[in-house]
Amino acid sequence: MPAEHQWRWQPLLEQWVLIAAASGSRPWSGASVAQHTETVPEHDPDCYLCPGVTRASGDINPNYTAPWAFDNDFASLLPHELEDGGNDPLHKTAAARGNCRVLCWHPSHNKTLADCSEGEILEVAKLWQSEYASISADDSIAQVMMFENKGKEVGVSNLHPHGQIYAADTVSDYGRRIRLSQHQYKQANNGQQLLQTLIARDEYKDALLVEQGTHFKTIVPFAARLPYETWIVPLRHVQSVDRFDLEELLELSLMYQRQVRRYDQLFRRSAPIMTVFQNAPCDTSQANADWCFHIALQPPLRDSDTLKYFAGYEASSNNVVNPIQPENAAAALRDCSPEVQPT
Ligand SMILES: [Zn+2]
Repeated sequence: MPAEHQWRWQPLLEQWVLIAAASGSRPWSGASVAQHTETVPEHDPDCYLCPGVTRASGDINPNYTAPWAFDNDFASLLPHELEDGGNDPLHKTAAARGNCRVLCWHPSHNKTLADCSEGEILEVAKLWQSEYASISADDSIAQVMMFENKGKEVGVSNLHPHGQIYAADTVSDYGRRIRLSQHQYKQANNGQQLLQTLIARDEYKDALLVEQGTHFKTIVPFAARLPYETWIVPLRHVQSVDRFDLEELLELSLMYQRQVRRYDQLFRRSAPIMTVFQNAPCDTSQANADWCFHIALQPPLRDSDTLKYFAGYEASSNNVVNPIQPENAAAALRDCSPEVQPT
């Protein structure tokens, strides 16, 4: 059995994670997360993502019946020409240029990806492809960050099933680290790709494997930063989601759905998750070719009613303490029955 207290190296971010399983059994008298049992309507006229409603911008949503995307009315990044910042070396600034999109997975307000049909989730996956392909083709965009924040625990006020895109003219801090680590690994290892080498290891054939597909694996990473973090990684090196063929895309979307269902079972409700679709940056760097697409699912919970907090040590060191042994997390997730749809 692996040691319950050890530093583990996270090779994409090139940082140490502290696995401290005993801290997870520490008596807990802190905050609990209320379980949400409210009834959610199929259509909410006050929801700005539902079909046919008028948004704050004055635009009226179409009566869409398939996944649909639009520019965020409250964008953090703006496409217009903005004034560049000055050159003060200590208080440096730059214009926050880019594009923010809202991606509605389904017209029904009360659906989640866990209970979409196979046809519906494939349509969602096609939207991942078309959005990445069209936005990354814009020369002014350096990185297309596609993500889904699900659940009130991660600050989502709107329950409508949706994701977001932040497309910026710069590559994020984590993006630069993940790109450099994969590029340097390939250079130092005779052209081998980091993620494909990683998931071929024995650990990812049993103890850290959640699901083996034909084209993908769902794994708990050896140095998981969040207690039940998982990655869905392709067996072949692919930079971005738009490069998968239809068979691969269908498997990816169904494995993603099954992982969402596992979390719902594990936490006994529609589980909060921060999901990131790790597509390659799209600036002019040659190193983008060495980036491998994967989906990272990061539930913010350590059990069904307790949040994993990023407190003093973690916030000030950027070295996360994970209170759940990754091998135990993988075993718990394997025990779930992802074919069962939530009621
Ligand atoms: Zn809605």
